Amino acid sequence: MITIRYRGNLQKIKTAVNCANSLLADPKFYQLIRAHSEFTMSNISPAQIADLMHEADITMRIVMYIASPRVHGYDDVHNPDLVHINVFRSDWTISGIVNTIIHQTVHAVNDIHQEFSFGHGDRSSPGKENTAPYWIANCAEEMLTEKPGKTGLVHEAPPESLALDTLD
Ligand SMILES: [Zn+2]
Repeated sequence: MITIRYRGNLQKIKTAVNCANSLLADPKFYQLIRAHSEFTMSNISPAQIADLMHEADITMRIVMYIASPRVHGYDDVHNPDLVHINVFRSDWTISGIVNTIIHQTVHAVNDIHQEFSFGHGDRSSPGKENTAPYWIANCAEEMLTEKPGKTGLVHEAPPESLALDTLD
């Protein structure tokens, strides 16, 4: 089971983490992934990815850091179980934060199955809607909002200095 952990005090993050944990425990979430026809930039089927996510045993930890407001977070290839969230992000909707969390969860599942590939290549977002991280994150957002998900994680390069990161 994938579990998201946050021990900080930001109420919106706490709420988003609860929402993400509920989604990750909801069979409907995996059914929606399984029902998708195919992902671009993936060498396995959506059904296989749904199974890998469902069977994964990962605890993801939320880490707040500071970046420019247009950025949501970044992918951490060295610590894929960390979800780096920009505390100054302009988008502080619950669904947008859940989008970021689920996007990083897909990367983390891929990291433990490196024989497969279901990422999104470079950090630019345009044209990536049908890659597994973006599509599955949007799917989670849609389950929450009952509207088409469109947050699409705005990535930046990992910061050179991680001094501002604080765990939990
Ligand atoms: Zn990513």
